[in-house]
Amino acid sequence: MNDTAKPPGEIPPAVVDEQGRLCGFVHSVETGAAVDGPGVRFALFVSGCQFRCLYCHNPDTWKLHNGVLRTVDDVVAQIGKYAGFLRLAGGLTISGGEPLMQAHFVREVCYRVKQQYGLHTALDTQGFLAAHLPDDWFDPVDLVLLDIKHIDPAKYEALTSKPLQPTLDFAERLMAMKKKTWIRYVLVPGWSDAWDDVERHADYIKALSDQAPGCIERVEVLPFHKMGEPKWRALNLEYALDETPVPTPALTERVREQYRQRGLTVC
Ligand code: SF4
Repeated sequence: MNDTAKPPGEIPPAVVDEQGRLCGFVHSVETGAAVDGPGVRFALFVSGCQFRCLYCHNPDTWKLHNGVLRTVDDVVAQIGKYAGFLRLAGGLTISGGEPLMQAHFVREVCYRVKQQYGLHTALDTQGFLAAHLPDDWFDPVDLVLLDIKHIDPAKYEALTSKPLQPTLDFAERLMAMKKKTWIRYVLVPGWSDAWDDVERHADYIKALSDQAPGCIERVEVLPFHKMGEPKWRALNLEYALDETPVPTPALTERVREQYRQRGLTVC
C-alpha cells in the first residue's frame, strides 16, 4: 500500500497484560443509560480520542492512558451481572472517547457479550478510523450511532480538528453493509445551526437513507450543553464556547423539522 492510499489516523496496537489477556482503557461505566441507543443500556465509556471537538463534554477521555486498564474478561463479567435485564431492556453501548481508538478491545467485548449473553450491541463513534477495519469487524455490532458533526468540510474541521471525509466514507460503507444506523448531530448555535448547513446535512442523510432503505432508523438532533465545561477548566484547557448559548427549544424544533420534512425519523 502506498502512503496516499493509507487511511488517515491510526489505531493503536492491542494491549495485553502480563498474562497475555486482552485489555482496554476504560474511562467509566453507566449501568442504566437511557440516551445511548434503544432502551436502557449498559454504557461502557472507553478512553482515547483523536478529535478535539469544541463542545466535547468528556475531554478527560481524550488521552488513552487516562482510563483504567481492564481485561476483556473483567468488563464482560461486569456486564454479565446485568445481562438478564439488559437482554430485555436494551443492551450494551460502547462510547467514549472514540471506541475505534481501541478497536481490538471493543470488538472483543461486543463479540463476547453477544456470544455469552445474547445482548444487543451499539457503537457510538465519529467513524474517523473505520477505514482501518474490515467489514467483518462490525459483525458483532448491531447498531452504529454515527456522529456526523457538520456537513461543510471546513466548518467540520474547525469544530472537531479533523477532516470530514473519512466519516462520510464510513457512512456510505455502513449503508453498503446494510448496518442499522442512527445519525447524531449536535446542534451548536453559531456553529451547526445555519439553515443552509442543516439543509445540506439533511439532504445528505436523506440520500444515504435512500441507498439502503430502513438502515437509517433515526436522526438524533442533540442540543449543545455546557455540562463538560468544568472538566475543560480542571484540565487547564481553554473552553472556546463559554459565550455560546444553548439552543432554544424553538431552534431545536426548527432543525428537527428540517429532517422530518425529508421523511426521516427524528428525535
Ligand atoms: S469525538 Fe467525541 S470524545 Fe472525541 S473530542 Fe469529539 S465529542 Fe469529544
